[in-house]
Amino acid sequence: MKREFAVIGLGRFGASVCQELSAEGMEVLAIDKMESKVNDFRHIASHAVIADSTDEKALKELGIRNIDHVIVAIGDDIQASILTTLILKELGIKKVTVKAQSNHHEKVLLKIGADHVIHPERDMGKKIAHSLISNNFLDHLELSNEHSIIEIKASKKMIGKTLVELDIRARYGCNVVAIRSKATNKMNISPLATDKIEAGDVLIIIGADKDISKFEKHLVIDE
Ligand code: ATP
Repeated sequence: MKREFAVIGLGRFGASVCQELSAEGMEVLAIDKMESKVNDFRHIASHAVIADSTDEKALKELGIRNIDHVIVAIGDDIQASILTTLILKELGIKKVTVKAQSNHHEKVLLKIGADHVIHPERDMGKKIAHSLISNNFLDHLELSNEHSIIEIKASKKMIGKTLVELDIRARYGCNVVAIRSKATNKMNISPLATDKIEAGDVLIIIGADKDISKFEKHLVIDE
């Protein structure tokens, strides 16, 4: 079944979300207050309309209440982003994802009921910083303000060693939740202490950011 989304604000971020959802075959209602932005989406999104999302009546008339998931991608105008989120939650939209411009903006959005707050510039900055430090770093997923999941390539220090030999949990306080084997291309979920790490394996690790950082410094960065 096709899921229905609305994307409010067609700046670079909103436009990219809208394009990708449409390419994946989802029903997308694209909304912006600027006609030129809306025109660019007439042939991409299922519907593209000019509306000011701080106008509750306009949103109601668009039938926004029938939409499963609304993404608020208004950037610079923080007041409009907050007011739009508030209206959407008051209208009973189940899932509202909002792009935040700053940590303060994020705090307010969570207080007023945003279901998910994203901070693309900050998150991308973090990912890039990690990959600059180590070539073995592949990905970073923030779970909360203090916890993350990271994906790394086995470093030279790990190759040929078992998990018990590396003793990651006791030494660094993080857990290896899965290992993707290069040899078999299979995902080993909840690996055993006796499982050995081979060259090219990818490890998925969960932990507190401070512990992950310690782990990265000692085990992930190859000299
Ligand atoms: P990006 O970095 O993704 O390009 P941005 O952070 O610079 O975006 P803005 O350009 O401030 O974000 O806003 C994104 C879009 O949201 C713009 O196209 C703007 O017209 C639209 N927008 C702003 N306020 C409203 C509103 N109240 N209702 C509808 N659209 C709005």
